[in-house]
Amino acid sequence: MSLRSICVFCGASPGAHPIYRHAAENLGRYLAEQGLRLVYGGGAVGLMGVVADAAMAAGGEVIGIIPQSLERAEIGHFGLTRLEVVDGMHARKARMAELSDAFIALPGGLGTLEELFEVWTWGQLGYHSKPLGLLDVNGFYGKLGEFLDHLVEERFVRSQHRAMLQLSESPTELLQALRNWQPSAAPKWVDRKPD
Ligand code: AMP
Repeated sequence: MSLRSICVFCGASPGAHPIYRHAAENLGRYLAEQGLRLVYGGGAVGLMGVVADAAMAAGGEVIGIIPQSLERAEIGHFGLTRLEVVDGMHARKARMAELSDAFIALPGGLGTLEELFEVWTWGQLGYHSKPLGLLDVNGFYGKLGEFLDHLVEERFVRSQHRAMLQLSESPTELLQALRNWQPSAAPKWVDRKPD
């Protein structure tokens, strides 16, 4: 699948170790060098600001989508190619998804997970066929991976839907996995008998 525009979800905090900031810098720079447009939450704080600054510094195109209510708290980033101010959180996620061909989550907190899981559930229900992946930094997402496997073992998630989420420590490998991904035709409902 050919990718042109990548949505990145990530922490509005920098995290406890410089390694997170370095990973965000690397990813932002890499996307710009590959000629890929970065779509993100539009803030200038935490890893959000870092990934956007790195992409802009490397000559990339960056579009930020921020709700009016957060423009102050997350300090709307005015050094982007374009900053769109929208009505609320739902509009933000919908617009980020509309503008993107694939989704990547860097380390982050509740907002990052919420955004990732919502877009994943949209994919599971067949609302879109866009790939998604985790950029694992220093094993950050290992425990989440174990829990997701547990959901499959307990028959709350189909293995095909679990497999929609790619994981790599390397932006190059992750982008390649996203490009290679083929949407599955598996229906969401695990135990329902065919009609
Ligand atoms: P966090 O991972 O909690 O630092 O948050 C990262 C980003 O997710 C921030 O830009 C938050 O504003 C955003 N965020 C948090 N909750 C939501 C939500 N329900 N919908 C859209 N964005 C959200």
